[in-house]
Amino acid sequence: GPTVGVLALQGDFREHARVLAELGARVVLVRRPEDVEGLDGLVIPGGESTVMDKLSRAFGVAEPLRRRIAEGLPVYGTCAGLIMIADTLLDAIDGQQNFGGLDVVVRRNAFGSQNQSFETDLEVPALGGEPVRAVFIRGPVVESLGEKAAPLASLPDGRVVAVEQGDLIGTSFHPEIQGDVRFHEYFLAKVRARAGAAASASAAIA
Ligand code: GLN
Repeated sequence: GPTVGVLALQGDFREHARVLAELGARVVLVRRPEDVEGLDGLVIPGGESTVMDKLSRAFGVAEPLRRRIAEGLPVYGTCAGLIMIADTLLDAIDGQQNFGGLDVVVRRNAFGSQNQSFETDLEVPALGGEPVRAVFIRGPVVESLGEKAAPLASLPDGRVVAVEQGDLIGTSFHPEIQGDVRFHEYFLAKVRARAGAAASASAAIA
């Protein structure tokens, strides 16, 4: 299977690693710059974006990841992971940085405090079939989308909580802790397609 990194500095990276391994990916826990080489895709877990930002810079992994994402690395970010790949942040803490890539404006902690966490069924047309049971834990919301980005799911009040742009996907909620693997499958299909296209391009050159 493809080689998929999971940013493993903080947050629920183990849950993502387990789902990806079950689906046949070769999983690499990403903590250091050398872990970034050779990835076909990357998952950024839920957790705390401010801490992920500080640790990723301290470990020297922020810059290589920013570069690979800008070059087209497929990325799936859940919750804090979505915050890490958004181009514009609202309610960020002073000096908070992220990787960017996704042409959206994301507001942190948009649903209030931890004890206002909730679950709901979401229609996700791109995944087909049954609605997704979505778990929101102090998650962000996508306040606006640039031209290149498209919504994948919205709450009944219209707020966008899942988004894609080419090979980038972000969700405000946590499929990794819920047992529904369809978002991960959807992401892995993008990773495989891109890895396959890269392989045939280099075969054509060789
Ligand atoms: N509130 C967190 C942040 O700003 C995200 C919460 C989560 O990932 N469940 O990073």
